[in-house]
Amino acid sequence: MNQLSDRVLGMATSATLAMAAKTRELKAEGKDIIGLSLGEPDFNTPNFIKDAAKQAIDENYSSYSPVDGYVELKDAIITKFKRDNGLTYKPSQIVVSTGAKQSLANVAAVMLNKGDEVILPCPYWVSYSDIVKLNEGVPVEVQTSIDNDFKLTPAQLEAAITPKTKMIWYSSPCNPSGSVYSKEELRALADVLQKYPNIIVVSDEIYEHINFVGEHASMAQFDDMFDRTVTVNGVSKAFAMTGWRIGYIGAPEYIARACNKMQGQITSGANSIAQRATITALNESPDRIKFMVEQFKKRRDLILDLLNEIPTFKNNVPEGAFYVFPDISYYFGKTLRGHKINNATDFSMYILEEALVATVTGEAFGNPNCIRLSYAASQEQIIEAVRRIKESLN
Ligand code: PMP
Ligand code: GLU
Repeated sequence: MNQLSDRVLGMATSATLAMAAKTRELKAEGKDIIGLSLGEPDFNTPNFIKDAAKQAIDENYSSYSPVDGYVELKDAIITKFKRDNGLTYKPSQIVVSTGAKQSLANVAAVMLNKGDEVILPCPYWVSYSDIVKLNEGVPVEVQTSIDNDFKLTPAQLEAAITPKTKMIWYSSPCNPSGSVYSKEELRALADVLQKYPNIIVVSDEIYEHINFVGEHASMAQFDDMFDRTVTVNGVSKAFAMTGWRIGYIGAPEYIARACNKMQGQITSGANSIAQRATITALNESPDRIKFMVEQFKKRRDLILDLLNEIPTFKNNVPEGAFYVFPDISYYFGKTLRGHKINNATDFSMYILEEALVATVTGEAFGNPNCIRLSYAASQEQIIEAVRRIKESLN
């Protein structure tokens, strides 16, 4: 018997989480897998944040918080947006959620009618497409080129727009390509959008601080875009707090109110202790987490140098986040140790079985020619993983 809804039957399992589960399973069987599949910092949450959480428990923050977040947390988010991004939001424009993933799910749920199109420059973060589909929207995938650092061009944006376009969703720094849009590049996209005043931009900035080129640019920084941009952020990546599950948006007020209403029927707001700890995290200077960013940059350089030694891989130079996204399409149609490789999923499975390295297929990110490796791992693991991959390809 299968009484499940069409909605869930038509939905893909999160490929990142599935690969992480598979890695755990294989490790439990005693296999020496190096997991480069899941995108999460391999640092512990800094002590000053953990201390704030312990204090919150002692101070009995054990009741429901306001659905859209504690007033003090919304204030800290407003201060953060002003300090780091030059954005001025009112409390009524902020909604705190159970991870940026829920922030994105809220936005999709409150914005999409059946058949509304959402432009997703590829590669996009794994869950965008299924969140859109779950809400009866239509993902419009636009392929970008590795030669343009996987960035959407204004001409591509223009060509993808139809009368049904409701939103465009992208992340910068980008998961999975590591690409970072400059202010000029965002302005050029905003110029196209000027002709289409009803299109809403969802700018996912969760990797904001993990940026090796310096300046982070936000779409909402342009006065003419502020009222039509939802800025998504969270503490998972910057503060090594993936398990704490806190994300947030700064949005036009009518969208924030709708997200608040939606969330009020679904989760009653995010975890109270994690919210209190996030106040402390956001009130600190981003300098406090610089040591992690410096480590990620060293690892980016290391993994890129090592991968560049494999002549059949084609790499862009990721400027942020903690992923590399090599094009491995050279192997399509070839047979490696008896495994026929027809696509990136076959390649990723081959690497898992023969090199014992877990990666994620690019198909999950809307790019069938690449695989994603997370370098949020130790230098030793990175060196050993690439050594094994090389060996399995010889
Ligand atoms: N957006 C992007 C681009 C991500 O990589 C992630 C990864 N977790 C999220 C959103 C969701 O983050 P979280 O729910 O942990 O805040
Ligand atoms: N965002 C991370 C990733 O892309 C975590 C997994 C997830 O949330 O899907 O791997």
